[in-house]
Amino acid sequence: MKRQNKDGRPIHSDKIWKRMLWIGDNLEKIGYRESKNSPNLFYKQINDKEERGVIFADIRGTDIIPIWADASPITYHKDLSFKRYIKEVILLTRNKCFPRTTFYQDSEPDGWAFSIGIPEGYCKGCGKDIIHEVDWDILEDGIYNEKIKKIGIEWIVEVCFCQDCKMQENLVKTFIKEEN
Ligand SMILES: [Zn+2]
Repeated sequence: MKRQNKDGRPIHSDKIWKRMLWIGDNLEKIGYRESKNSPNLFYKQINDKEERGVIFADIRGTDIIPIWADASPITYHKDLSFKRYIKEVILLTRNKCFPRTTFYQDSEPDGWAFSIGIPEGYCKGCGKDIIHEVDWDILEDGIYNEKIKKIGIEWIVEVCFCQDCKMQENLVKTFIKEEN
């Protein structure tokens, strides 16, 4: 890694530099490599049965937002489905790589995943690991609908709870609706 911002400006803060090194280390532990030509840009090739593509974790900073403003890697991908990408974002989060997502230009620094409460893919009711049972298409639809209509939280229940807790959650909702 190189102690500089993308535009060559040096990183004066030891704290920021240490955090970058630490994140770089965490990235390498889960199969990311640093680009030879672009220091501080990490990537991982995905070669699943169904999908091939690349995920990037970019800790280079930009001209406008230097890396010392936020040392968390910006993540983006090439040729992957939303579904595959979201799994990778969860993996990155679980492994302390603090990914920032870029679905929307106006998304908050920590990304939408934090705001809807599934940063690590665990059920919000009981803590069960639900990474392999969530219907990520619903999440994708939900994000876009939410963005357009600014309503609807049902889809959040769909992606944040395991089957059992979802049932509980829906029972409670029905009850409340009937009471009113
Ligand atoms: Zn649960």
